[in-house]
Amino acid sequence: MDELSSAVIDFSERNTNGRIIAEYIWLGGNLIDIRSKCMTLPEEIDLDNLPDWNFDGSSTNQASGHDSEVILKPKAVFPDPFRLGSHILVWCETYYPNGEPTDSNFREIAAEIFKKCTSEKTWFGIEQEYILYRKEISWPLGFPVSGYPKPQGPYYCGVGSDVIVGRQVMDAHLRACLHCGLKISGTNAEVMPGQWEFQIGPCEGIESGDEMWVARYLLLRCAELFGVCICWDPKPVMSNDWNGSGCHTNYSTLKMRSDGGYGVVKNHIEKLGQAHSRYIILTGVDNEKRLSGRCETSDLKTFTFGVADRGASIRIPRVTEANQKGYIEDRRPASNMDPYVITSAIADITLLESAH
Ligand code: ADP
Ligand code: MN
Ligand code: MN
Ligand code: MN
Ligand code: MN
Repeated sequence: MDELSSAVIDFSERNTNGRIIAEYIWLGGNLIDIRSKCMTLPEEIDLDNLPDWNFDGSSTNQASGHDSEVILKPKAVFPDPFRLGSHILVWCETYYPNGEPTDSNFREIAAEIFKKCTSEKTWFGIEQEYILYRKEISWPLGFPVSGYPKPQGPYYCGVGSDVIVGRQVMDAHLRACLHCGLKISGTNAEVMPGQWEFQIGPCEGIESGDEMWVARYLLLRCAELFGVCICWDPKPVMSNDWNGSGCHTNYSTLKMRSDGGYGVVKNHIEKLGQAHSRYIILTGVDNEKRLSGRCETSDLKTFTFGVADRGASIRIPRVTEANQKGYIEDRRPASNMDPYVITSAIADITLLESAH
């Protein structure tokens, strides 16, 4: 997209005459494409009963042209960190007119799974890795326009202009998440130049997917302000000299966190191992390019686990072993995974399947 020059007048101070702006946000039909449009509403509107809406699904790969309406159902409301005031962001689910969720809407099935295991108090902490990239050439920020930067090593948690690029984007995003009240637990610069990470969690059950998708939306919006793009690809630079991007998913249940929980930890890891081959196909498009067994990843085909092992499918943190209770880290999911799919699959595999 061509950039505009900045506006001379700041219109955000204008009177909205008793109206608020509600930005309705949803996931489009291509599994990672977030969409949004806004409507204005009276200030007195009840935020727990926002109206359903609809959009042209034939433009988002969610419907055909002759039956194009897809319904938006509000699921979570946040203060808008860009427009400020009383303006809001509205995270929505998408439905076909017959009441069925659309093909890319996995929230409903996830919510059903979490409803069945509410008492287990499933917690998720998701580490979203991404790269900033130049829109003109689809090449990472921090990489020379043609060619490669010096090898990986100084970039992870790096400081200084020779190793860091895009800190302003990361910081704007962190502030935006905090403004929305998201459970963002931290951020860091990653192993590849131009690569960053933020963590959302711990969140309980369906809240994890809701917060992750809104956090992704906020990142796209923040990057817009700086004229850069976000790349969610698991392996943006196709060589093992360069790390891919993952979405490590940290997981615990009430029993895992309670005294004596280590037995439950081991039991759940065993179940995840048994489900490996059918789970792995849910972990993101092109994840097989990332899970090479190198660059701090496990091999796609083999399930492994180990204490403090960053080359394993599942890492047991040292603190979990030391306390004999706590959480585990599933290192398999890719940066472009759907958090509704991954969190509910983990809950289903570890808590529900044996009860079928
Ligand atoms: P790493 O050491 O793998 O880089 P991070 O610090 O980036 O780990 O992310 C760890 C994530 O796990 C954070 O989002 C954190 O909130 C989350 N977390 C911490 N404790 C738990 C727990 N008991 N259950 C689930 N997630 C947890
Ligand atoms: Mn129109
Ligand atoms: Mn991390
Ligand atoms: Mn990381
Ligand atoms: Mn991790």
